[in-house]
Amino acid sequence: MPWPTTEDADLFAILDDELARQRTTLQLIASENFASPAVMRATGSVLTNKYSEGYPGKRYYGGNEVIDRAEELARERAKALFGAEHANVQPHSGANANMAVYQALLAPGDTVLGLRLDQGGHLTHGSPVNASGILYRFVSYGLTASDERIDFDHLRDLARQHRPKLIVAGATAYPRIIEPEPFRAIADEVGALFLFDAAHVAGLIAGGVHPNPVPFADVVTFTTHKTLRGPRGGCIVSRAEHAGAIDKAVFPGSQGGPLDHVIAAKAVAFHEAAQPEFAEYARQIVANAAALAEALAGHGFRLVSGGTDNHLMLVDLRSFDPELSGKKARLALDAAGISLNENTVPDDPRPPYVASGLRIGTPAVTTQGMGPREMREVAHLIHLVLEDRDDAGSLAQVHDEVTALCTKFAPYPPA
Ligand SMILES: *Cc1c(COP(=O)(O)O)cnc(C)c1O
Repeated sequence: MPWPTTEDADLFAILDDELARQRTTLQLIASENFASPAVMRATGSVLTNKYSEGYPGKRYYGGNEVIDRAEELARERAKALFGAEHANVQPHSGANANMAVYQALLAPGDTVLGLRLDQGGHLTHGSPVNASGILYRFVSYGLTASDERIDFDHLRDLARQHRPKLIVAGATAYPRIIEPEPFRAIADEVGALFLFDAAHVAGLIAGGVHPNPVPFADVVTFTTHKTLRGPRGGCIVSRAEHAGAIDKAVFPGSQGGPLDHVIAAKAVAFHEAAQPEFAEYARQIVANAAALAEALAGHGFRLVSGGTDNHLMLVDLRSFDPELSGKKARLALDAAGISLNENTVPDDPRPPYVASGLRIGTPAVTTQGMGPREMREVAHLIHLVLEDRDDAGSLAQVHDEVTALCTKFAPYPPA
């Protein structure tokens, strides 16, 4: 008995609406991007039908000879892209990848160092409401007050004092290059393992504009959907000595059957990221972020750490208007078709769901083909919205300008 012949009009109308939203509004969320048609073709493929618990050559189900080739290709491409000895391409997300690494390397209760959540660390770096913080004893390092960059002196002191089993580097809201060498040196001094969570910057690393942590870290995790521009998912690359423990922690340790269609799409994304054009893309992401940051500073906004050298910036709104919270700013910008998120700034007096800052990223607009000129226009529009935030007419006018700009650079053809 085949499938119903009537189309699901309700759901597909929603998809059309989302395509229209992505084509006509500005996507400045630092963790978002536009996946290629090839990535989406693999994600929407017949590989969604297959069960393949296990790994290539060692499956618990039959009929996996074709799937094995897809997963093997994804693994080989991931290893080649980052120069790693081992790759596990099965994690359903970045959070799953991190939890699997903890499970592989730690016992419950073990001590781990991670970046403070209100200074750019991720939920999976020890938040008390996340399994990482419930199962393990996370101790947080932070930024220096003066330059708002990672405070390695404090990190070294904490490492000597707490003797962690693992040190985690990486951030979800940190606008500067994270150098892997100082983490390795501190980890070696105290006999800790070193995990570099490259969720945000994997594409910048693959494109050669940020240092590759693979030679320094025991394990590197990343998402495939942020700067790397692939399907929604996670990946772990590591030294060979951790391969067995990591594979076991992903399956059967924390996941069931892999998402074979997504693994195939990861293979596509790794292939795309290995092309010379991708290095150009990564350079342009950073150039666009620098242009946007400079233009925003010109409009009187203070930038955390004074600027950016990656794909994102943090705007401290307190210098612009102490009354304006990140949340209020985000809602006004949303009404004008500019999509981004509120974010805490270092030592933020407001709670995280209100916050005093905005996080702004350039991976998606760069995929669309926008350049420094458009970044200056975007800064102008953001400034206008925040100045006129109580003027519905002005917000509607900005929305029209946003739509005109975005349709000139539409990432996908109309439905
Ligand atoms: C986004 C992110 C993750 C989690 O990725 P998900 O796919 O959303 O689970 C993990 N670590 C960092 C640093 C991130 O920015």
